Amino acid sequence: MTTVTAPGGRPVPPPGARHAVLVTLDSCRYDTFAEADLPHVRALGPLESRYAYASWTAPSHYNLLLGLLPHRSPRYAHAGAAYVAEFRRHEGRFGFPIHTVELDAATFYFPEFLRGAGYETHALVSMEVIGPGTPVNRGFDTYRLMPKHNDMAAIVDAVVFPTARPSFWLLNVGETHYPYATADEDPAAWPRLSGTAGIIRALCANEPVEPPPFFTDEQMRHLRARQMRALESTDAAFARLFAKLPHGTWICITADHGELFGEDGYFGHGPIQHPKVFEVPFVEAIV
Ligand SMILES: [Zn+2]
Repeated sequence: MTTVTAPGGRPVPPPGARHAVLVTLDSCRYDTFAEADLPHVRALGPLESRYAYASWTAPSHYNLLLGLLPHRSPRYAHAGAAYVAEFRRHEGRFGFPIHTVELDAATFYFPEFLRGAGYETHALVSMEVIGPGTPVNRGFDTYRLMPKHNDMAAIVDAVVFPTARPSFWLLNVGETHYPYATADEDPAAWPRLSGTAGIIRALCANEPVEPPPFFTDEQMRHLRARQMRALESTDAAFARLFAKLPHGTWICITADHGELFGEDGYFGHGPIQHPKVFEVPFVEAIV
């Protein structure tokens, strides 16, 4: 295996290397995705129910960037068989055999691996817990926390595909995360609950942190409807994203974890052990 380096220090991409886009709809529950009116997204390809490796944003994104996309929970199979199958699929997704690129198996991380394959690597994220200063940001040329947590249209505006080499994009979309707000909704109307970043910020400032009482069934129904509406609001941005994709791009739309809306006494995600917090939508296509 020989790595050819282009002027400027980055390797020449292997023949066939494709642009790649991984979209994580943060907290998007599988059922929400399955029931939502998403004409452009659903036209991309068949919807699968898969399972995230983690129930919370940070570990789940780290796992995704290790190349372990949401799994099918195979029975009577060693984990290694699933890993082999996934990495073989990556060869089709990215368009080149993995062994043709120099890699450090001990510290493998997809953004670094792809940079070693001559890619540009970029991340546009909506959630503070995977912001630029976190360990998830490794091997990226650019990594931006978006100014608003719920504005996929702004994410799409910021995506620019290079022409000289393939690129990898992690796009973390926040409309589907609590408080499930569309980009044009007045923040004063949002239901308020702190995530880890907000709670840690309050603790650091020695401010009181008092989560509100647990939601009623009626509030749960309202919140689930909000997630559906917020997800549906992203369909137009997806249409614009699809129109930007260079021919032959691999795109995957999934979620980092699901969300509970009252089942078995749970709300949200994180410290929850329930199938619905792991079940996520999964759609992929080469366009
Ligand atoms: Zn998340």
